[in-house]
Amino acid sequence: MSEGEAGPRPHAALWDEVTGWLAEHWDPDLTVEAWWRVVADAGWTAPHFTPEQGGRGLSRRSGAVVRAAFVAFGALRPPGGLGLLMAAPTILTQGTPDQIERFVPPILDGSVAWCQLFSEPGAGSDLAGLTTRADRDGDQWVINGQKVWSSQAMQSDYGMLLARTDLDVPKHKGISWFAFRLDQPGVTIRPLREMTGDAVFNEVFLDDAVCEDRDVIGGAGNGWMVTQTTLHFERTGIGAGGSHAGFPEPGPKGGMHGLRAGDAALLEAPNAKLTVNYEDVARLVQEAGRSEDPGTRQDLARLYTYTQLGLWNAQRSKAEAQRGGGQAVASVGKLTQTDIVKLAARLGVDALGPNGLLTGEAAVEGGVFAKALVFSPASSIYGGSDQIQRNIIAERSLGLPRDDAPDRGRPFGEVLRERVQPA
Ligand SMILES: Cc1cc2nc3c(=O)[nH]c(=O)nc-3n(C[C@H](O)[C@H](O)[C@H](O)COP(=O)(O)OP(=O)(O)OC[C@H]3O[C@@H](n4cnc5c(N)ncnc54)[C@H](O)[C@@H]3O)c2cc1C
Repeated sequence: MSEGEAGPRPHAALWDEVTGWLAEHWDPDLTVEAWWRVVADAGWTAPHFTPEQGGRGLSRRSGAVVRAAFVAFGALRPPGGLGLLMAAPTILTQGTPDQIERFVPPILDGSVAWCQLFSEPGAGSDLAGLTTRADRDGDQWVINGQKVWSSQAMQSDYGMLLARTDLDVPKHKGISWFAFRLDQPGVTIRPLREMTGDAVFNEVFLDDAVCEDRDVIGGAGNGWMVTQTTLHFERTGIGAGGSHAGFPEPGPKGGMHGLRAGDAALLEAPNAKLTVNYEDVARLVQEAGRSEDPGTRQDLARLYTYTQLGLWNAQRSKAEAQRGGGQAVASVGKLTQTDIVKLAARLGVDALGPNGLLTGEAAVEGGVFAKALVFSPASSIYGGSDQIQRNIIAERSLGLPRDDAPDRGRPFGEVLRERVQPA
């Protein structure tokens, strides 16, 4: 759910509770780091987690209501980021009690930031074909390889790293999921500039980097199963309108920790947003005097409908996940969100006319709609491309025949050797 949609009316009791809590606890003179500890202790960072997990046992939708109430009050929101979207729920689902205790609280209080080190130059859609290697050395794993498109890696302290730990088994079976510390020799991170002008992406080179065995989530060789959990939370989060990166940025490298919380609350530049939502567009259409235009009205109605479907679908996905399924539903939600991101950006730019294509602080609406338009094609790619979501729905929900995979069932080392020396 996007924060703009979370008005007070549908969740009046929760809105009042958050506002009452803020009236008592918001202290703009605390540092961001200290404020986030107060917020996490009260369970507001992830209110949809259970109280034992550091949340408040509320619905998934509650997170957006809470964040909107913080903004309306003028308080700095709880920390965002990929750790909250993916690492914390993955570790809560697949980690040991020791791993949960070590990794989850620092995500909830924003003291560390995480990135996702899944994609490689030769392994995106075919993620299980990854070739980054991890070789055991006593209590440690020694890791070599390359990752790419790693959002926020430069600002992160940990990576959700996938690496191959066994070449003698089929490709899905020889992968492990590492909670990987980035600040160490052997890790080189280089930014990549996108067509939005930002450099959110990075390539990450791993040369004899190390990870302790106790930081393998789900056990060695079980990484593919753990990865399904991570992807599920990523797609469900994106499907519910969650930001891929998520302001405010956690961790010491995000640059916010030492700031006064009151100053940080004012920080989010209007053009820092990469996507726009129904509320942004509806306001713009009205201001531009286009509410009577039949085509615009139809598109706006479509955008509203997709947005509501996305929210209901996210709830359905969560319910199905609790019953042990839900991957196809998460894929439907992700596809819907792709339509929302593209339609909202186009409608906004249409309403603004030629000026809407200008970018930069001085541009109309801070250039946010132009930026959202340029970013919008990415929604068909991140979190797994549209085609891959359709494959998942076809195979896992509709029962259609599986995609052809000549390497299925064969030891992955053998497949790799053939690639180097074709038979
Ligand atoms: C904004 C953004 C943020 C990202 N952030 C991260 C991140 O933080 N961490 C990370 O690890 N990755 C990240 N990615 C990478 C993303 O997950 C991959 O780009 C994506 O999985 C696709 O992989 P690829 O780019 O290698 O394309 P490819 O896999 O090479 O695909 C190319 C095209 O072929 C199609 N295709 C491939 N296989 C099939 C098939 N079996 N059936 C039908 N069509 C197929 C695809 O749909 C696509 O259109 C990000 C990407 C974007 C755009």
